[in-house]
Amino acid sequence: MDTKYDTGIITQTQKLRGPDRGVWLSLLLVFPLVFAQPLPVEPQAIPDIDWPAVEKEAGELLSQVVRIDTSNPPGNETAAAQFWQNILTQEGIEAQVYESEPGRGIVYGRLRGNGQKKALILLHHLDVVPADPAEWAFDPFGGAIKDGYVHGRGAIDCKGVSVVQFLAMALLKRSGLRFERDIIFLGTGDEEVGGRKGAGWFVDKHFDVIADAEFLLTEGGGIRQREGKRSYRVSVAEKAPCWIELKATGPAGHGSSPVPETAVTRLVRALEKIRRYETPFKVVPAVQAYFNALAQHQDEETAQRYRALEQALKDEAFRKKFTATPSHNALVRNTISLTVLNGSPKTNVVPASASAQLDCRLLPGEDPQTFLAQLKQLVDDPHIEFSTLLNFPAVASDPDTPLFAAIRSVAAHRDPHAPVIPSVLGGFTDTHYFREKGIISYGFSGLALTAEDARGVHGLNERIPLAALRDAVQVLFEVILSIDAIPEGANAHGH
Ligand SMILES: [Zn+2]
Repeated sequence: MDTKYDTGIITQTQKLRGPDRGVWLSLLLVFPLVFAQPLPVEPQAIPDIDWPAVEKEAGELLSQVVRIDTSNPPGNETAAAQFWQNILTQEGIEAQVYESEPGRGIVYGRLRGNGQKKALILLHHLDVVPADPAEWAFDPFGGAIKDGYVHGRGAIDCKGVSVVQFLAMALLKRSGLRFERDIIFLGTGDEEVGGRKGAGWFVDKHFDVIADAEFLLTEGGGIRQREGKRSYRVSVAEKAPCWIELKATGPAGHGSSPVPETAVTRLVRALEKIRRYETPFKVVPAVQAYFNALAQHQDEETAQRYRALEQALKDEAFRKKFTATPSHNALVRNTISLTVLNGSPKTNVVPASASAQLDCRLLPGEDPQTFLAQLKQLVDDPHIEFSTLLNFPAVASDPDTPLFAAIRSVAAHRDPHAPVIPSVLGGFTDTHYFREKGIISYGFSGLALTAEDARGVHGLNERIPLAALRDAVQVLFEVILSIDAIPEGANAHGH
């Protein structure tokens, strides 16, 4: 499909429009079937988009959204949901605000296509992680626009994404172009602490509102810029959290006359066993696909290893090197992090109970019950009780769809040498709520970020370049227009 763009169509459109129509030329290249047959297209059918104006609009919108403080906890997303409802309504797009509980808003908007195909959801979250103004160069909730950046908490995660999604949708409406799918704008709350009062609640209570959706795009992937090289990362799967609490019990007493077996000694022994435990390696199909894509840009030896990863991991030297990169290690096994510890609040008191929490992450397809049973067996202590604090199934989305093809084709003409990589996130987003319902969900925002930009996410001085916002709007707009322009149904678009 990609090679299509290297053939006749480019020459024809160049002749037709001239290279000075750069933006629309590029748009034409993305969905050749729409405009390529029959050529020439009536030029007036193609609206002119003023991209510098889009950039300005994006910056101003983001600045306004950043100023609505939705730090979670407590979230208070209703103000942001209402903000978007107003903006959507002004644009002539129907919109509604839901609340999972007072103050915990969710915004839903729908732009209607001609109903030929199922809807596409553009999902983002309205809440942000907290920020301490004392540690920032700019007020994290000031929305300053300076030196080509919008500064503030959420500039990237996820308010920047919301602005990109809104503008792609608005441009579609303003352009008057025909399209088949409804586009749903969905901004949920509570994502940063698991989404139970946001996406989880909405999918549980109001799934009927979005039941006609087939595809979903959200954060978790985009265009990665490292050392001048770009790659398109589309997350198709995530590891699933399996957060576990261990509670040990034993005789309470005074610290001055110790006994050998107490809640604390039992807990420490259990945790030491878990710390030493090496979870087995397993290369699931989504992870193998990811390393297949990476292999194309490695030296021959590494490429061979990547293409047969499970086999390669049996080699000790390779395994050592590979697992030394924590993000790689996390993709080929279930992981366990010891995080929370609770014992006695007083130095001289032996507590009757002590507890610890483990942040475990399971590969797609793993059974949490089996995993838990293995840990219990390993610890092998009747004085320790296990409970699950958070868990959901890890479901992967098929990368072989018209939506993925659309991302590929947009990438192919914008960045002919950039690989498009289906990836597996070590962390998790709200996508699992939708994947569990059978909606094909990809993490792809369209934002191109450098390592330095990305550092601000959940960190200090989060900011986003205005140019990245503008380009992402263009990418997402092109992706939406390309979904149905590629395979079947080309005639339905004919002008
Ligand atoms: Zn986020």
